[in-house]
Amino acid sequence: MPLLLILLLNISIVFAQTSPLQWGENVTGVVTHFHSNKKELALTFDACGGSVRSSQYDAALIEFLIQNHIPATLFINARWIDSNPDIFMKLSTNPLFEIANHGTAHKPLSVEGKSIYNIHGTASADEVMSEIEGNNNKIEKLTGKRPTFFRSGTAYYDENAVAIAHTLKMEIGGFSVLGDAGATFSAPKVAQQLTSAHSGDIILLHMNHPESGTREGIIEGVNVLLQEGFSFVRLSDVKSHLQRIP
Ligand SMILES: [Zn+2]
Repeated sequence: MPLLLILLLNISIVFAQTSPLQWGENVTGVVTHFHSNKKELALTFDACGGSVRSSQYDAALIEFLIQNHIPATLFINARWIDSNPDIFMKLSTNPLFEIANHGTAHKPLSVEGKSIYNIHGTASADEVMSEIEGNNNKIEKLTGKRPTFFRSGTAYYDENAVAIAHTLKMEIGGFSVLGDAGATFSAPKVAQQLTSAHSGDIILLHMNHPESGTREGIIEGVNVLLQEGFSFVRLSDVKSHLQRIP
């Protein structure tokens, strides 16, 4: 039997034996901050896909980041890649951006089929692995580079699902600042969220809702942060300084 298959079977068996106790955004093992002695923040952008509305691309937002040399981690779902193949390839070859995995079917990551916001989560350890590996394989095939960060659709997990991600050598990209609340915040509110961030915060935003207040709020907020002396990092830039929830 191939080694990987044996490993995956063992993972399934181990995690089938104990029921998870936690369910949420901030469960054991999720990365929410990084240590820094400098004024540094991590901007992270989700691209969810799955509907016409959620498959949009905020080109002006990405152009703002490029013009200002602001690096970012882009959490991209497999469905969004299917809707925007050319844009995806362009983003993946821009050294400012790190491509991260936002799931195959954008499911909350559960080993027992828990739901959140009326979205059904994965129902087993096997489904957790497929949700992660499906899009990892897709991204690796397209870019030659396997992602090292994963964020589920809805950013919900149980701790067993997080442990499975760790066995697959993935860090869970959580967050400490809710930047745009699923692209529902007004521009002033997004700017306020950004400018109230502290060094080492991971900020969750969206790059798939150009109709929202997200872009305008980011431009305003980032300009203030730059004046205050902040700089920005990709999550892989601070890999050895990440803080997991104990
Ligand atoms: Zn999403």
